[in-house]
Amino acid sequence: MEDRIWVTRPAMPPLDEYIEEIRDIWDSRRLTNMGPKHEAFRGALCSYLGVAHTELLTNGHMALEMTMQAMKLAGEVITTPFTFASTTHAIVRSGLTPVFCDIDPENYTIDTAQLESLITERTSAIVPVHVYGNVCDVEAIDKIARKYGLKVIYDAAHAFGVTYQGKGIGSFGDASCFSFHATKVFHSVEGGAVCFREEALGKELHLLKNFGIFRPEHVDGIGANAKMNEFCAAMGLCNLRHIEDVIEQRGRVDALYHSYLEGIPGIKLPARQPGVKPNYAYFPIVLDETVCGASRDAVDAALREAGIFARKYFYPPTNALDCFHGAYDVNQTPVARKLSQSVLTLPLYAELEPPQVERICRIVLQCVTQSKKRSVT
Ligand SMILES: *Cc1c(COP(=O)(O)O)cnc(C)c1O
Repeated sequence: MEDRIWVTRPAMPPLDEYIEEIRDIWDSRRLTNMGPKHEAFRGALCSYLGVAHTELLTNGHMALEMTMQAMKLAGEVITTPFTFASTTHAIVRSGLTPVFCDIDPENYTIDTAQLESLITERTSAIVPVHVYGNVCDVEAIDKIARKYGLKVIYDAAHAFGVTYQGKGIGSFGDASCFSFHATKVFHSVEGGAVCFREEALGKELHLLKNFGIFRPEHVDGIGANAKMNEFCAAMGLCNLRHIEDVIEQRGRVDALYHSYLEGIPGIKLPARQPGVKPNYAYFPIVLDETVCGASRDAVDAALREAGIFARKYFYPPTNALDCFHGAYDVNQTPVARKLSQSVLTLPLYAELEPPQVERICRIVLQCVTQSKKRSVT
């Protein structure tokens, strides 16, 4: 079907630009292991993100895992279940115990009013998520972390290009982990980065991502392999030149969605946050079936019927994932549980055309009006 619409579509640089960028790889034969593209991309990222220190990794998940390991965390880590499986997996795979805090019902990030009550003497860190690119309450988190001597690692996989009060989002906390996966606002095919406050963490990350090898004939750490290769770094360099255009185009799609769906009772749209320059990473709508008459699953099915593939980001919440066999109680995070049952993320990418947005919204609105008619008859 020609007119299928997927939830996202990667932004691509002009082909010629990428070919030009990778030309010198053929001459140098440096394909990976922190070559010139890697270093150029790292420098360009530091200046775009407005951070002092960045380490590149093979993907966003390894950025999370390696940061937790580089910080030598132990015991419990407080996080939220309203996220991609990766956030929780990184904690568990690092031998840590996730403790789930519920989310704020307005912006879906960690509820800082509840955070403090979850801290025990075993707590070593907080891993909040800038979910959908919404900025966490960084001031409250910072205050709590200082009071108890906890590390803060932001999962910033959704927040590339976001600024808060004029500062790059990667400059908050002890570290922020970005994903450059093809489905994200900014990508390097696959890739990830950690931005961090203390320079010493860079040495640890560098060791961990390269088998613990820092100098020849010396293996200083028990690392893994999570290096970004030169082809991915080259893609990152190219895409970074166009990122502001991409975000602006996404903003136009976001505005169009608002114009069609604003003010419909029972449909909640993403809200702007004061002081935040957004990146329009996602367009989550929350359906209150008791008001609009249509359930999230009904709207999702109607869109699917028309070849439009929205996504239930994030369902189930990670504390209810099958792989954990009921180890966590989803009822302890009722806001996250309820949201995961009522949220639907609509297609959003730079090249999504206005008529496509209109078609998507027409179907959403049809679901609502049809259920209204049903309730009258
Ligand atoms: C995409 C994503 C990750 C993982 O990033 P990858 O680059 O795909 O490994 C982690 N956390 C969140 C919230 C994500 O959306």
